[in-house]
Amino acid sequence: MKNFEELCLDPRILRAVTEMGFEQASPIQEQSIPIAIEGKDMIGQAQTGTGKTAAFGIPMLQRVDPHNKKLQAIVLCPTRELAIQSANEIRRLAKFMHGIKILPVYGGQDISKQIRSLKGGVQIVIGTPGRVIDHINRHTLKLGMVGTIVLDEADEMLNMGFREDIELIMEQLPEQRQTLLFSATMPKPIMEIAKQYLHQPEMVKVVKKELTVPKIDQYYYEVNPRKKNEVLSRLLDMHDPELSLVFCNTKKKVDELVEDLKGRGYFAAGLHGDMKQSQRDRVMNGFRNGRTDILVATDVAARGIDVDDVEAVFNYDVPQDEEYYVHRIGRTGRAGRSGRAFTLVVGREIYKLKDIQRYCKTKIKRQPIPSADDVTDIKAEKILERAGAIIENENLGKMIDILEEHLDEKDYSSLEMAAALLTMHMGESFSGETAEEDFGDTGAEPGMVRLFINIGKKQRVRIGDILGAIAGESGLEGRLVGAIDMFDSYTFVEVPREYASEVIEAMRNAKIKGKTVNIEPANRK
Ligand code: AMP
Repeated sequence: MKNFEELCLDPRILRAVTEMGFEQASPIQEQSIPIAIEGKDMIGQAQTGTGKTAAFGIPMLQRVDPHNKKLQAIVLCPTRELAIQSANEIRRLAKFMHGIKILPVYGGQDISKQIRSLKGGVQIVIGTPGRVIDHINRHTLKLGMVGTIVLDEADEMLNMGFREDIELIMEQLPEQRQTLLFSATMPKPIMEIAKQYLHQPEMVKVVKKELTVPKIDQYYYEVNPRKKNEVLSRLLDMHDPELSLVFCNTKKKVDELVEDLKGRGYFAAGLHGDMKQSQRDRVMNGFRNGRTDILVATDVAARGIDVDDVEAVFNYDVPQDEEYYVHRIGRTGRAGRSGRAFTLVVGREIYKLKDIQRYCKTKIKRQPIPSADDVTDIKAEKILERAGAIIENENLGKMIDILEEHLDEKDYSSLEMAAALLTMHMGESFSGETAEEDFGDTGAEPGMVRLFINIGKKQRVRIGDILGAIAGESGLEGRLVGAIDMFDSYTFVEVPREYASEVIEAMRNAKIKGKTVNIEPANRK
């Protein structure tokens, strides 16, 4: 695995990468960056979560001239969410390169605002194909100086019906240009596009080694990104491992998570590549002698550590590569002990997890996020078990005397007293926290919620309009939206359970085809 220093990056990008907390180039970056920096065409087979945005973003930035205010690079991507996300990532990479302007353009946003920004001089545009064409037609995007075009998530763009739009854009670009195509899958239409528009492209695909996964129980949880810390703490409370390892993808996340966990009362410490040897030794000693029971680490930092009795591994971030997954979870279940691995998955990272399962030939089981009540029950059970052992093994005569006297005096029942003592032992309680909304059975597929929308064929809406509105308003990726059944005056659409509240909230004042809509969980027929 290479450091970014070995990839001959512009020092300003190197500085940004360091600040972003990246410790090493991901496999797709290690291979793509040298090819793309040279200006060659390239096809990269990579999923979301592999670091692909930086894989094309870094070379793109190195090739853009900050003194030239004309448009020099375009990234086409399938959704507004991805356009915004990629623009943010590339902006962060460009933080120390003064004079480079990056703008996301997508349908649904006021076009006059975009036009105003474009007039100020933008070198890199990241947009959805429809909106990019709109700007080309209005001459607010001029393609004459475009030296690089990236087709990001090309398979997804074709799934969403953007093929003609892409072709229209490609036809108008200068002949002399670099074309980079990224796609998770390589079906025939993608290869056709590659054949037509790419010039002697190099193929980049991360070659997999044979991987053996230790036989340990592996679970995953689909989480809302904002709830990751909460879910992690529930899992820690529920399973109560004596020693656990938590993996994050960046140094920055390690630091943030350690602070958060400490704030929640856990004994956690972080380990990453920026730390001095003496600091690392201190952290490791604390972990070995039980002062710290949660070690939060990056992949690089964890490589050097040797601890045998880790009870559970948590992947706070889905690893960027299958091999990392195997290394990570191999930290538990050693020396004949039982071990468990838990992975938090956000949105489309589920595809990355599917890749991991396929390549590693392993089964990672989906689990519902434990509710606050589940955690309370399990905590109570553990405390009562310990109490049982005390009843069996210790002489309680003196304590019984104290209690008898006290209960007589105060007129409490022994059950009330036991419940109060149990409450004291439970520590921080979750009471007052609102439980995640339960939509009950809406007749949807497992893991999904079926939503009712009061608009249908009669209002001349198409399935694409519904999909577009949901993706556009809530930021939910198009491919996460499930079945859409359209009737004359209403439509049913299925969305993942963990996003249902957000979708309903985002659609509250939304319009589809100019009509304000009402959206609510469907009633089971
Ligand atoms: P992407 O595959 O481009 O969607 O990237 C997924 C996430 O990985 C983003 O949050 C990036 O900031 C992050 N990332 C990209 N490259 C690296 C790296 N080399 N090390 C750690 N995180 C990275």
